[in-house]
Amino acid sequence: MATKKTKEINVLFAIFEALPFMKTGGLGDVGGSMPFELKKAGVNVRVIMPKFDTIPEEYKSRMTHVADFNVPLAWRNQYCGIEKLMYRGMVFYFVDNEYYFRRGAPYGFFDDGERIAFFSKAVVEAMDHLPNFKCDILHCNDWHTALAPVFLREFYRGQKVWDDVKTVLTVHNMKFQGKYSDYVLGDVLGLAGIKAAEDQLRCPGKAVNYLRGGLSYTDAITMVSPTYADEVKNPFFGEELEDVLCRRQNILRGIRNGIDNTNYNPATDKALKDKFTVDDISGKAACKKKLQKELGLKEDPDVPIISLISRLTPQKGCDLITRVFDEIMGLGAQVIILGTGDKKYEDAFKGFAYRYGENFRLLLKFDEMQSHRIYAGSDILLMPSVFEPCGLSQMIAMTYGTLPVVRETGGLKDTVRPYNKFTGEGNGFSFAHINAHELLFTLKDAVTLYRENKEAWDKLRDTAMREDFSWDGPSREYKKLYEELLGR
Ligand code: ADP
Repeated sequence: MATKKTKEINVLFAIFEALPFMKTGGLGDVGGSMPFELKKAGVNVRVIMPKFDTIPEEYKSRMTHVADFNVPLAWRNQYCGIEKLMYRGMVFYFVDNEYYFRRGAPYGFFDDGERIAFFSKAVVEAMDHLPNFKCDILHCNDWHTALAPVFLREFYRGQKVWDDVKTVLTVHNMKFQGKYSDYVLGDVLGLAGIKAAEDQLRCPGKAVNYLRGGLSYTDAITMVSPTYADEVKNPFFGEELEDVLCRRQNILRGIRNGIDNTNYNPATDKALKDKFTVDDISGKAACKKKLQKELGLKEDPDVPIISLISRLTPQKGCDLITRVFDEIMGLGAQVIILGTGDKKYEDAFKGFAYRYGENFRLLLKFDEMQSHRIYAGSDILLMPSVFEPCGLSQMIAMTYGTLPVVRETGGLKDTVRPYNKFTGEGNGFSFAHINAHELLFTLKDAVTLYRENKEAWDKLRDTAMREDFSWDGPSREYKKLYEELLGR
């Protein structure tokens, strides 16, 4: 019997970060893995992102020019080149405009509001210039691309290339929204006088908000975990956009992020001299020994290593950690922090580093390779987030047999099942409230279990390493969403 051949879905995946071209956090991991997984699930995806000058030369030199056109942005008419690179079988398009993207860093400039609006408009304009590609779904990510659905509907409605395009907006963190004063409506976005746009971009009584615009205009909204998709309808997590999320809850769903098994795999990881698997764990002890040596810590296999690999910001629970840091050091473990962030936390940890020089290492930097060695060589990963849309670090840690201690929120709640001392079940440790002592006592339980019940610890570690954090399930869910939007 002949099977019904369904038409392939063409997705233009717009994002500001994607490994190996740009990464400042979890968004870069997702940009560098999710499109490949969607492709595996049978979706025809192409990625579009800015051509930053910091993209390694080995990639820039292989890019080819496919199109150029001008992008109208209010009174401006800006050049936009589209460069193409085939990378691991995937088409990546790079939006080229040196004025906006030759800056040495992706964010943090006085005119970010304009640069980001330019990128969103360029993405929409580009749809008319990509050879052999008719976009069915524009999949946007975070506030950097949230304006694309707004522009699409307000400026391109009714035109053949754009009219049937459906939009998805995935929010990786509600905290980052793009808030600007009213003047951007006219001077940058060219939307002044369009009443519907003004109303939907402006928070009641407040500034213009790019993410709010995207959430109002898009055809589907996804959060990066089911629990976070529920949480954001409440003021504590909704970051003042809960009203629009409640209003649009019928198009809101949560799809957990996955991790890239090719990048994060202790059996093949290039950053590790000693590889290991769940069935032959011996290499993990060697990784721990090498990590202790690398950081000048006492080479003791029995002392637990607790690590934090994170942005040092309030979101990540830094207030809880600094509040009980003395007590944490009193647990007799070795502690490693790899991260950068707010000066007040960096300074606080510098003070602790001075006091606890023997057992505490503070690495104030962003170092991808070293992060892999720390995931592999540690025993416990600390992640006491106040909120966590999905979180990748806890999943990466578990893959490397390092048990997470997390707060029960967002994706942490969806991926970490706390140890049950009566049944031995679980894959990590968790606590409920934003409370420093709850964190401390949970961490203490973990350290005690490590020291006193090797059998139970090994069972937990085995369960954690066998978890499926791949993109297989999530990418099927995205595909289903695309099909629903297109009525296929
Ligand atoms: P977020 O995206 O909110 O920062 P996630 O847990 O989703 O948090 O993702 C963080 C990613 O960034 C993980 O891949 C983590 O290993 C990595 N990371 C965070 N800080 C550092 C650092 N200082 N050096 C190397 N990698 C880091």
